[in-house]
Amino acid sequence: MRSQPAPPASETTAYDWLAQSLNTLHRAHWHRQVQPITGSAGPIVEIAGQSLLNFASNDYLGLASDPRLAAAAAQAIKTYGTGSTGSRLLSGHRTIHQELEQAIAALKRTDDAIVFSSGYLANLGTVSALMGARDLIVSDQYNHASLKSGARLSGATLVDYAHSDVASLRQQLQTHRRQYRRCLIVTDSVFSMDGDCCPLPEILDLAAAFDSMVMVDEAHGTGVLGATGAGFVEQCGCSGRPLIQMGTLSKALGSLGGYVAGSAQLIDFLRNRAPSWVYTTGLSPAAAAAALAAIAVVKAEPSRRQQLQHNAADLRQRLDRAIATVPALRSLQRLPSASPIVCLQVKDAATVLNLGQRLRLAGIFAAAVRPPTVPTSRLRLTVMATHQSAHLDQLMAALMAFD
Ligand SMILES: *Cc1c(COP(=O)(O)O)cnc(C)c1O
Repeated sequence: MRSQPAPPASETTAYDWLAQSLNTLHRAHWHRQVQPITGSAGPIVEIAGQSLLNFASNDYLGLASDPRLAAAAAQAIKTYGTGSTGSRLLSGHRTIHQELEQAIAALKRTDDAIVFSSGYLANLGTVSALMGARDLIVSDQYNHASLKSGARLSGATLVDYAHSDVASLRQQLQTHRRQYRRCLIVTDSVFSMDGDCCPLPEILDLAAAFDSMVMVDEAHGTGVLGATGAGFVEQCGCSGRPLIQMGTLSKALGSLGGYVAGSAQLIDFLRNRAPSWVYTTGLSPAAAAAALAAIAVVKAEPSRRQQLQHNAADLRQRLDRAIATVPALRSLQRLPSASPIVCLQVKDAATVLNLGQRLRLAGIFAAAVRPPTVPTSRLRLTVMATHQSAHLDQLMAALMAFD
């Protein structure tokens, strides 16, 4: 037997770059850590023994802790067990998946829908299934990371257009469209780190003019916007137009999973070609049942949506007033928002971290969002339907105590 090769003379290993890379993150104030919440989701959460007012949740309607969703999930576990046991095309398909997909299609007013194990996987699988090396993807520069990853995975040529800028989109289509076979325009409907909305009707008009498909990511629109809670597409009056609608079950719907809704042919195609659906275990029965129960609540209780819009408008107004009148807040800039996501832009990563920590000491949990997630640092506040006016009072008091 040959002896093991001697270790290299220096003490270095092939993993040393990890420590160096982490150091770089720390120095740039980009390093991030998890923080465990000990109890249930809601407007008040407990972290490290401290009770905090929660302005960092995507649980817009307060459904993640709704007893009806929990009961539906528990019943599904009794009926189907905890796991789906296989991919959907083999042994992982249950009647609860079918009911959920039909409910999503009914909400979205499309032929059909397909549920993935997460929104991230829905974007990854859909974009990479639809597009290939001879195709062009034209993407809003602020799109969610999962859309960008899907584009990269597809092998298509990817060009960005300036955020929500219709002239820039037209320019990119004029410059590039003709050199490619198929074209897909992709955009978030509600931008996750800004809270503003895309110019959807104009995008659809351009798509028609340039023989392009459109995919819209409704992660933050579903359950939140539109007369029936179907999302931003409904709010814009674009429900009937040819369109690929993607969204998540994990935000306003309080569960886990993602979906794509659209024509029967689109969904049939994805069931055959989307790798992140074909080669992964089906969504758990509990998650599917909770999402199905959430859709019923969205339909039956429009008052939650109204309360959410009221709270968001209230927060925006209070922040604008505070920025205009409190000298210490004058350097903050509120970004345009048409959703429950309200952001205050701050000059750099160190400042936003400091702001987040001081809010934390005052009992407020809010996200200090920094590069590389976003181009500019910001405090990202999200409101929920279950926030009360007194909660907003407490947030504003904490902000106004700054000097
Ligand atoms: C959260 C989010 C996703 C991913 O959804 P998950 O279900 O959390 O994986 C996709 N797109 C946008 C815009 C999001 O905000």
